[in-house]
Amino acid sequence: MEGKQFNRETESEKEVPAEALATARHELGEHNGINMSIEASNTFTFKDSETMNRAFQGEVGPKTGIYIYSRHLNPTVLNLGRQIAAIEGTETGYCTASGMSAISSVLLHLCNSGGHVVAAKSLYGGSHALLTHFLQQKCNITTTFVDIVDLEEVENAMIEGKTSVLYFESISNPTLNVANIPELSKIAHAKGVKVVVDNTFAPMILSPAKLGADVVVHSISKYMSGEADIIAGAICGPAEIVDQMRDPHEGPLMVLGPTMNPKLAFEISGRIPHLSMRMKKHCKRAMKFVTKIKELDPNLVVLYPGLEEHPQHSLLKSMSNKDYGFGGVFCVDMKTEERANLLMDKLQNNSKFGFMGVSLGYYETLMTCSSSSTNSMLDDKEKERAGISPGLIRFSVGYVGTFEQKWSQFTRAYSEM
Ligand code: PLP
Repeated sequence: MEGKQFNRETESEKEVPAEALATARHELGEHNGINMSIEASNTFTFKDSETMNRAFQGEVGPKTGIYIYSRHLNPTVLNLGRQIAAIEGTETGYCTASGMSAISSVLLHLCNSGGHVVAAKSLYGGSHALLTHFLQQKCNITTTFVDIVDLEEVENAMIEGKTSVLYFESISNPTLNVANIPELSKIAHAKGVKVVVDNTFAPMILSPAKLGADVVVHSISKYMSGEADIIAGAICGPAEIVDQMRDPHEGPLMVLGPTMNPKLAFEISGRIPHLSMRMKKHCKRAMKFVTKIKELDPNLVVLYPGLEEHPQHSLLKSMSNKDYGFGGVFCVDMKTEERANLLMDKLQNNSKFGFMGVSLGYYETLMTCSSSSTNSMLDDKEKERAGISPGLIRFSVGYVGTFEQKWSQFTRAYSEM
C-alpha cells in the first residue's frame, strides 16, 4: 500500500463497489442455503487438543475453518466484514459493535502511549472527543487538529518518529469538507504515517483504500444499516493490520471486546447488496433539494459538495466512483440557533418534511443543529475552528415519497419563517 499511486483512468473503470460484491459473494449457509448461516455460538470446539493448542499459537484459524471464541472472531461477523471489505476494495475487514468502537480500536492498535495523531479539526463530535480528551488523558496519545484541506498544514503537523496516524473523514461531519485522499496518503506515507479514513458519509461513493488510505472505518449505524435501527461499525484494511487486531492474545478486538453480535451481522449482511441503490437515491434527492433551495433563496448559505461553488466539488468528482453523485447530506446555515430550531420545528411538526434526529442515512429525512447536538462537546472556539456555525442545520436526505411532495413540505415550512 505504501507509496501506491491512484490511477483513475485505469482503476476506476475496472471495478466499482457494487461489482465487487458480485465477485466476492458471501458464503453459503451451512446446508447450502442461499443466505449465510448465523453462527450463534460464542465458543467453538476442536477436533483434538493439538488443534486447540495450534489455534492459540495462531497456526490455524479461519482460513482452515477453525475459530476459538466469538469475542474476537466469529464466522458470521467475518462474512459481513468480507462483504464490506469487498465494497471498500480492501484485503479484509471485520465488524464491531459501533462506529466508535471501530475507530477507537484502530487508533489504540496503531498508536502507542506517547504517540501522536494528526486529525482533521472537522470531525464527528464523538471522534473529536475521543482524540481530544480520552486518548490524551487515559493513553497519553496526543492529537494535533488541522484543516484537512490545507495539505501544507497537514504535512507540517506530522512529528517525525512520533506521529503514527493521520485521521480524517472522507466527507466531514457536519461541514462536508472533502479530503484529498490520494495527496494526503502520499504525504503521510512519505513520513511513515498510516492513513485512517472514516468513510461513513460516503459508502459506495468513495473508496478511500483504492485512493491510498491504509484503513477505512465505518459507522454501519448510518447508510449501511439504512433503517436507523442498528448501532454497528466496520474496520477494513490490509490483512496485516486487521489480522493483528484479531490476535487471540493481544489484539484490541480480543482485549477490548468491541464485539458484534452474529445475529446482527446476519441482519446487516442482507442490507449491503442494496446499499448501492439506496446511496444513489440519497445522492440524487440531495442534489435536487440543494438546487431548488438555492433557487428559492439565493442568499441562503447551503453547503453541499455537489454544488459547483463548493471548494472541493471538482476534487470529489475526480475521486468518486461512477454514478453515485455527491452524498446524501447537505447543510443550511440559518445563522442563529433560534432560527435553526424554528425551521426544524416547522419542518417536523407543521409540514411533516422530516424528523429531528442526530443520525443519518435513514430513508426519511433527519435534521439536526450540529452545534447544539452532535458537536455540542466542542467548545465555542473549537466549533469556530471547525466551521460549525450556531445555526448550521445538517439534513440527511431521505428518499420516501416523491420529490414534489417533499419539496412542497419544505417550501410550506420555509414560507412560515
Ligand atoms: N463517524 C461518523 C462520521 C459519525 O457520524 C458517527 C456517528 O454519528 C460515528 C462515526 C460513530 O458511529 P456510531 O454511532 O455507530 O458509534
